[in-house]
Amino acid sequence: MKRSTGQDRKITSKWRAATRAVRGGTWRSEQGETSEAIYLTSGYCYDDAHTPAARFAGQEPGMTYGRTQNPTVQMLEERIALMEGAEACRAQASGMAAMSTALLCQLSVGDHMVVARAAFGPTRWVTDNLLPRFGISATAVDGRDLDAWKAAIKPNTKVFFFETPANPTMDIVDIAAVCGLAREHGIISVVDNAFATSALQRPLELGADVVAYSATKLMDGQGRVLAGAVCGSAEWINGVLLPYQRNTGATLSPFNAWVVLKGLETLDLRANAQADAALVVANFLEARVPRVLHPGLASHPQHELVARQMHKPGSIFSFEIEGGRAEAHAILDALELIDISNNIGDTKTLMTHPASTTHSSLTPQVRADMGVGENMLRISVGLEDPQDLIDDLDAALRKVGL
Ligand SMILES: *Cc1c(COP(=O)(O)O)cnc(C)c1O
Repeated sequence: MKRSTGQDRKITSKWRAATRAVRGGTWRSEQGETSEAIYLTSGYCYDDAHTPAARFAGQEPGMTYGRTQNPTVQMLEERIALMEGAEACRAQASGMAAMSTALLCQLSVGDHMVVARAAFGPTRWVTDNLLPRFGISATAVDGRDLDAWKAAIKPNTKVFFFETPANPTMDIVDIAAVCGLAREHGIISVVDNAFATSALQRPLELGADVVAYSATKLMDGQGRVLAGAVCGSAEWINGVLLPYQRNTGATLSPFNAWVVLKGLETLDLRANAQADAALVVANFLEARVPRVLHPGLASHPQHELVARQMHKPGSIFSFEIEGGRAEAHAILDALELIDISNNIGDTKTLMTHPASTTHSSLTPQVRADMGVGENMLRISVGLEDPQDLIDDLDAALRKVGL
């Protein structure tokens, strides 16, 4: 393979974000292909016996086995690292592989972590059910409350973990303040940036140590594959995360890496257009339903913080209707254009009832603490004409008598 300019940090670091997303990380084979090649191989062959010995000893660069290295996956890792402004990135088999790897690779029996309570359901399952089985305790706090983070710190606290904006309540965590507090105490901060992506929010620039992704969402952006990624310093990624990952095996497939590579080429365009459309739809809903939880609306209590730390507030938001589960389900059933789907970040607009889907595995008490009510619906706005989305929502609300 030939190095292309996409791999030369001296060149790529001069590029602006949209350019990095299109060209960052690209290698070219002898064929000079324009589009990144898919290397569907699990293993590698060597010209002589010395070469694998040197590679296994870490004395020479080069690939040894698909669980640890693949050219297509490496292109994706370099591209995401560049977009994020990170020294290093490792791709993961899914977003949850990214979250669980980012936590388990650095936590041991006796350690403690603090987690923002408004979080993706499976992430809360990991912190509330899985980690305690290995003697790792977690305190869940209101992520918006800096004093709560402070009060939760113990001598054995090793990690802060949060997502912002949080799913599905759109709580915003002050990244600079919480990650700054972590740093003061020698605690590693891990931020799940799936809702915003690097196109709209860059946690490392605000002081985060580690950024973890579900690339299944906006990065692929077209609902095709599962993928994940973890970004951080080269020392942390290679010294802490890599030994865990290569020996536990949540490796991303080269095909899925290729799909996400192609998705990233349009991420900047999609993330901005979908965020703009979401605000149009949110403004319509605000005049129709009792409560809209959209970080870009003046009614959002953390509106100013959003303006400080996000380029735009994103394409996903929630709203509350009059009634409960029956009415929420009736609205979903009345939609003609918008799909009923618990996925997010797609070019197609999707809607779900979090209490009976994404957050159904949590106890009603945990849901209530998080602010996920039976009357809440979540929408992920896609690339359709926003007026068609408004027409569809308006008709569905009318049909249910709202
Ligand atoms: C979807 C999602 C995940 C998990 O990602 P998968 O790719 O589905 O495993 C984690 N965090 C957030 C915020 C998500 O939206």
